[in-house]
Amino acid sequence: MARTNFYSSEYLDRVSHLRNDQNWLSEQLSSTNTRLIPVWQQNNLIQGTDNVEASILEIIHVETLRSIDVEPVLLGLIEGTAYFTLDVSHIEDPHEHEILGAAGVFEDLRKVGQYIQHEQGNLLAYARGINYWHQRHKFCGVCGSLTRSESAGHQRRCTNETCNTSHFPRTDVACIMLVHDGDRIIMGKSPRFQGKMQSVLAGFLEPGETLEDCVAREVFEEVGVRVTDVEYQHSQPWPFPSSLMVGFRARALDTDITIDEKELLSAEWMSRDELKATTPDSPVQLPRKDSIARRLIEEWLAEG
Ligand SMILES: [Zn+2]
Repeated sequence: MARTNFYSSEYLDRVSHLRNDQNWLSEQLSSTNTRLIPVWQQNNLIQGTDNVEASILEIIHVETLRSIDVEPVLLGLIEGTAYFTLDVSHIEDPHEHEILGAAGVFEDLRKVGQYIQHEQGNLLAYARGINYWHQRHKFCGVCGSLTRSESAGHQRRCTNETCNTSHFPRTDVACIMLVHDGDRIIMGKSPRFQGKMQSVLAGFLEPGETLEDCVAREVFEEVGVRVTDVEYQHSQPWPFPSSLMVGFRARALDTDITIDEKELLSAEWMSRDELKATTPDSPVQLPRKDSIARRLIEEWLAEG
């Protein structure tokens, strides 16, 4: 695959073997080279208006910015430079803050992601995703005691010594599938979609399912169509808040659409010609450019 999906992390060395090396971590946290990516209430720090980019701080600010119960998380190395992230959600108004306010504005990556360069997009998405997990796992799901961050932020452990359960960052797997009948694909409109956007179908994997089972079940539930030839294409981290999108193609065995009205407002078959003719004024708009949905559609359009 020549092109990888946006938010993928091929630039980053995650150095998992160094996450428990306290000497190495201390060195990085005191090195002037090391960088810090702050996240405030799931928003990322951005600068610029015409050219939007991540605002990345020097690690020297970590002690000033951190709250007592939050540890910085090691993201990894890019060309020898260590990147950490820190949740600064405890700061009431970051835009009035001396360091943060001067560095940029906090924005939702879902809004600005498509304008950001790929390597930075990954760092911001990863930072957002891992901080979200920490926020939601302050207490042990087994005994209810407080948990604490371990392994440079890649694990939490229950502080109740009898329980001592380890908790690992969670990723929710979602299948996303282009369903075709040769020259047409199914485009659906979810109540969550903005404006005139339509997209391919998607749904979450359930316990005890294969990915292929999930694709077939979701397509049948959402539009009443049975599929075959379910083929994996590629995947995309989608930490909004914590998903991995796994992309498939599937061939429809029947073409009558019966939508599940709880899941979709509408769904229709659209031909290559109709989709290729889409303009900003068309009644149907394609998904955003940084999404795997867009790529699945564009790859299929390019074949005919
Ligand atoms: Zn516990």
